[in-house]
Amino acid sequence: MKIETIVVGEFAVNCFVCTGTDSQALVIDPGEDAHVVVAHLKEQGLNVAAYLMTHGHCDHISGLAAVHDAFPAPVAMHPTDWDWAFTQANTLPPFFCTAPRRPDSERVDLVDGSSYTYAGLTFSIIDTPGHTPGGVCIYFETEATLITGDTLFADSVGRTDLHGGDSRVLAASLKKLKTLPDQTTIFPGHGPSSTIGQEKRTNYFMQG
Ligand SMILES: [Zn+2]
Ligand SMILES: [Zn+2]
Repeated sequence: MKIETIVVGEFAVNCFVCTGTDSQALVIDPGEDAHVVVAHLKEQGLNVAAYLMTHGHCDHISGLAAVHDAFPAPVAMHPTDWDWAFTQANTLPPFFCTAPRRPDSERVDLVDGSSYTYAGLTFSIIDTPGHTPGGVCIYFETEATLITGDTLFADSVGRTDLHGGDSRVLAASLKKLKTLPDQTTIFPGHGPSSTIGQEKRTNYFMQG
């Protein structure tokens, strides 16, 4: 698996393009700057096998419909975040004033503990609510790679004061992540990558 990061939008969201077999790719969190994501896919000669959403926040999904227009593919998200992701509840003025457009796609509901294969890449879903009620981490176990969304950052964690956030629930989710192998590389929704071991040593929120 090859992982490329495209930093998109006002909030510098990490959109990940994970390339598997036959020039098929997974696109994770195409938050904004759809034209940049589309141009990248075209340049690299890639097709999209699926879109994976770590959570429903507007800064992570507002570019989705426009990328999907160019590269139709199933869209996967936790059902709890599907419930509000494309509604007026999901705005953040002055940056995001209208609800994200819902793509005309096949809907895939991500289920905790289930495995999925797209683009020849197999991953499992770890429910990690707290930042949002339907937040998930995407675990590529054979690649020792974890996409953490806004659940876990290098040296920090996602805010719990936004729509649906809950700090106690987030603490329980972080406990789950501490059980993963230390050498697991994490790719957060904002900022640099790290490892589970590094975060267990230095991240205040991973001490509990
Ligand atoms: Zn978020
Ligand atoms: Zn975010």
